[in-house]
Amino acid sequence: MTAPPNKASRECPICGGASFMPGPRGRMAVSGVLPRCAGCRSLERHRVSRVMFNRLGPGHFAGWSAIQFSPDPTVDPDWFGTFELSIYGEPGGVDIQAIDRPDGAYEYVGCSHVLEHVGDDRAALRELLRITAGRGLLYLSIPDPFAEAVTRDWGFPKPEKHGHWRVYGRDVASRFERYVPDQPVLAYRGTDPVTGVSTGAFLLPKSTECYRWIRDRLGADVELFSGPPPG
Ligand SMILES: [Zn+2]
Repeated sequence: MTAPPNKASRECPICGGASFMPGPRGRMAVSGVLPRCAGCRSLERHRVSRVMFNRLGPGHFAGWSAIQFSPDPTVDPDWFGTFELSIYGEPGGVDIQAIDRPDGAYEYVGCSHVLEHVGDDRAALRELLRITAGRGLLYLSIPDPFAEAVTRDWGFPKPEKHGHWRVYGRDVASRFERYVPDQPVLAYRGTDPVTGVSTGAFLLPKSTECYRWIRDRLGADVELFSGPPPG
C-alpha cells in the first residue's frame, strides 16, 4: 500500500501531533482527509490562524492583556501577560452584545465563531472594538465568509444551523463598512498544512503601528478588506 502523498508532512503546527480524527459530527475536511488533531483537538481554521500568528511573532504579545471569546487552541495563553477566557452561554460568560468591561480593557481581543450566534452583530462588533485598547488588535474568526458571495440572515437562531442567526458571505465587507466605517479590517487567507484546506480570518488593528506590523509580516496573504487605511 502506498501512503497518501501528504501523509509524511501532516504534522499539527500547534502541538506537533501527527494523529488525526473526524471533525464535528463526524465530518471530513473538504480535501477528504481527517481534520481534527487528536493531540490539541484543533481544526483547519485553528491551524491556519496559528500559522498566521506564528508569522506575526507571538513575542509581540508579551505583557499584553488578552480576552478570548470561545475556547479554541488558535493562540497560546502563555504568549500574553494576562489571559481571560469567556465561554458563550456558560456561567460567567460575557454577552458580546453588551460587554461588561471598560473601554480599552484588553490589548488582544479574540472572537472565534461567536458573531454568528448573536442577534445584533453590529452591537457585538462595536463592543469588541470598544474593549480593545488603542494599540491593540481584534482577531475575528467567523465561519468561512469567503465560501459564499452573499450573507444569508434569517433573523433568528436556526436550530438546524447550530443556532446560527446567519451565514456570512464575502459581502460581510459591507456590514463592516456600515457598522465600523472608520476601522480598517484586514482579511488573511492561508492554507492548513494538515488538510491543505484554505480559509481565513479578520484582523482589526486599532493603531497605525499595529496595522503596519501586520502588513509587514503577512505581506500578500493579507488584504485591506474594508475601511480606510490608517494615517
Ligand atoms: Zn495539534
